[in-house]
Amino acid sequence: MKVRAMPNKQNITVLGSTGSIGVSTLDVIARHPGCFRVVALTANSQVDKLFQQCQQFEPEFAVLLDADAAEILQQKILASGLATRVLHGVEALEQVSSLPQVDSVMAAIVGAAGLRPSMAAARAGKRILLANKETLVMSGSIFMDAVRDSGSELLPIDSEHNAIFQSLPRDFGRGLGQVGVTRILLTASGGPFRTKPLSALEGVTPEQACAHPNWSMGRKISVDSASMMNKGLEVIEAHWLFAASADQIQVVVHPQSVIHSMVEYADGSVLAQLGNPDMRTPIAFALGFPERIAAGVSPLDLFKIARLDFEEPDMQRFRCLDLAYQALRKGGTAPAILNAANEVAVAAFLDEKLPFLGISSVIEHALEQISVVPVNRLEDVQKADRLAREVATERIRRLPRASTSHFTLHVSPNT
Ligand code: NAD
Ligand code: MG
Repeated sequence: MKVRAMPNKQNITVLGSTGSIGVSTLDVIARHPGCFRVVALTANSQVDKLFQQCQQFEPEFAVLLDADAAEILQQKILASGLATRVLHGVEALEQVSSLPQVDSVMAAIVGAAGLRPSMAAARAGKRILLANKETLVMSGSIFMDAVRDSGSELLPIDSEHNAIFQSLPRDFGRGLGQVGVTRILLTASGGPFRTKPLSALEGVTPEQACAHPNWSMGRKISVDSASMMNKGLEVIEAHWLFAASADQIQVVVHPQSVIHSMVEYADGSVLAQLGNPDMRTPIAFALGFPERIAAGVSPLDLFKIARLDFEEPDMQRFRCLDLAYQALRKGGTAPAILNAANEVAVAAFLDEKLPFLGISSVIEHALEQISVVPVNRLEDVQKADRLAREVATERIRRLPRASTSHFTLHVSPNT
């Protein structure tokens, strides 16, 4: 991770521009007219939102994964007289992540779908603003190798990793031990179910799981926060970003979400980054790096916050966090299996086909059933991802019907 001066005008592709992170990114960009040129905007299938963004930012390219949605967008673009070219498909997402005129890529697609475009940006040597943590969870070694080989610059957007990046010395790439770092303290809010009795968790609804006390986010990451799988994925993300072992990463539950993470040094110092829970802060940090630019975030009112609390995570309650540590220690394709089974289980939960406590049991089942192999090529990861999706889908399909539709079944971690 090298430090470069910010170019006069930064040409940027925003992958997943219609999502929570994408919208916040465009909000910060719009606050700095003349500093950024949006080269490409992309989405899954949200035509109207993407069209509205095209009218505001006039990108060279607009990409939709879905071909039919792209056709509709094309009509709208033609009728409006915009010069934006409309493309579709995964190859197009890779193309706009690696165009020669692009300086930076905001990687904000959700889930495993973000892997190929993020990888294309890494191979093309772009500055990558990485929100898509799943890329690192699935294929950390290959992605970090691509970043190093191409001379890419990697800036973490996840608020915790951005806080850690801000609290580390710039030469942390020499190794944490070499720069006097003893531990990374990764903070977690504990989500909406931190204090709910365990027995009450079996009947929670998607709406309850998505009602995060501090952050407003997409639905998948909101469920991950409620199960604390999000923190588990972040432990693995921190491992790859900062070359930290599982033992060097301590999760600290901090319900106020004011300290976004900390770094502990050999002399006893602990450095932290604080701020209001608003993703525009880490986004603005990365957009402006190494300079500081305005984010539109209100200043932190310490008198109003008054106190900061800390707790040790309860691994019984948050089984998913434990499974993520286990997958990290196992290595190879284990984190990719964990991630894929989680995606399938979360989608089933949001679709009311799996109870909340079933998420961890589906993941555990996939980790038990599928052999872990070393990751040498991207295909190893893709194969593990496919297999885990099949195993998880089958597991959910076999659950008794009545229990899945009414959220009444208690799924023990061992079923
Ligand atoms: P979101 O669901 O709000 O948005 C996802 C975006 O990706 C949308 O633009 C959508 O159209 C696009 N997309 C979805 N599926 C796609 C596919 N198959 N192919 C191409 N594009 C697709 O998600 P989000 O909350 O903005 O999260 C995005 C990423 O950032 C995730 O990896 C998440 O873990 C990470 N992240 C989010 C937050 C947050 O506060 N929202 C914080 C930290 C990290
Ligand atoms: Mg986070």
